[in-house]
Amino acid sequence: MAEKVTKIINGRVVGSDIAPRAVYFRGGRIVKAGSTVMVDDTIDAGGCFVAPGFIDIHCHGGGDADFMDGTPEAFLAAARMHGIHGTTTLFPTATSGSFEEMSGLFAAYEEALKLNLDGADFAGIHLEGPYFAMSQKGAQDPKYVRPPEPSEYRKLLALSGKIVRWSAAPELEGALDFARELRERGILAASGHTDCLCEEAIAAFEAGFTHVTHLYSAMSSVHRRGVFRHAGLVEAAYLLDDMTVEIIADGIHLPPPLLKLIYKLKGPDRIALITDAMRGAGMPEGESVIGSRKNGLPVIIEDGVAKLTDKTAFAGSVATTDRLVRNMVQLAEVPLTDAVKMATATPAAIMKLSDRGTLDAGKRADIVIFDDNITMKRVIVGGRTIFEA
Ligand SMILES: [Zn+2]
Repeated sequence: MAEKVTKIINGRVVGSDIAPRAVYFRGGRIVKAGSTVMVDDTIDAGGCFVAPGFIDIHCHGGGDADFMDGTPEAFLAAARMHGIHGTTTLFPTATSGSFEEMSGLFAAYEEALKLNLDGADFAGIHLEGPYFAMSQKGAQDPKYVRPPEPSEYRKLLALSGKIVRWSAAPELEGALDFARELRERGILAASGHTDCLCEEAIAAFEAGFTHVTHLYSAMSSVHRRGVFRHAGLVEAAYLLDDMTVEIIADGIHLPPPLLKLIYKLKGPDRIALITDAMRGAGMPEGESVIGSRKNGLPVIIEDGVAKLTDKTAFAGSVATTDRLVRNMVQLAEVPLTDAVKMATATPAAIMKLSDRGTLDAGKRADIVIFDDNITMKRVIVGGRTIFEA
């Protein structure tokens, strides 16, 4: 028997080249509309927007779970919480940990893949660290921060075939060889937690550092060394048209003028919206922990962001993807179609995920239906409704 066809009617469709009036899917895939298609089920979008599901390429957790907890339950809790808010694909992101912690995390990822039926789809692991500039380590544990060492990263790469992205500081000794090796393996190298000069970032781009981890956070920009002024990674991202960036668009890490500037200079095809969310996402404000439950740092969540307990710095975001899109529309005054693109087609292209990111025929049926305030009405992952308001 043929799988049944579902048709979404009465929606304002964004994120498709042909801007159809209805969206059809069958067996987890979008199918072409046409008079020959027999419809079994109808979903009434009630005049809301119908868009591709949101893709978050940098996320540490949510729903009181951090991927560093290293359990399948933590993965599933985060996938479920972010799914409710419109994330249909996420890349679990790991901070630096011991070899045992990393292998535990890889095993939990594999286990969670099999059990993940009502959350955002996992599309690969992002390692954030430990090859960072000590001066830009942010919330990373300093005991792990060091330059890349081939025997060490090859051991990790051998342990999991699911690593698809790695953030590192490009100025470190051995970093360019590291990026070349990642590229050979089809893994995206991203510049982050770095004090590199603009010139170093441009040289690193040639070696494979083609993406920038949370632009403006934990990185060099215009600064003086002695009497001379230097440009940093931020300026390299602006100078190189093909360098892609990601931004924490929670409305707090970057104020509206910077959101507008980044959009003006890079455009919707080179910007991915990310949550960089920690476990406090989707939770009430108050005390929380950044990193693993066991070894993490206590933080306080207030004003819609995580802060160190002494409140001298941010310690991660509690954003969800619906909030990112809403902020780009309401704070950065970006057209909705571009805001959606930065949460869908562009992150898909950055991660070379050709099976999702638009509502065109053949793509995965990852679909979100939301109102004018970007509040989710329905979230569909691989053809299955995981949330309905
Ligand atoms: Zn992060």
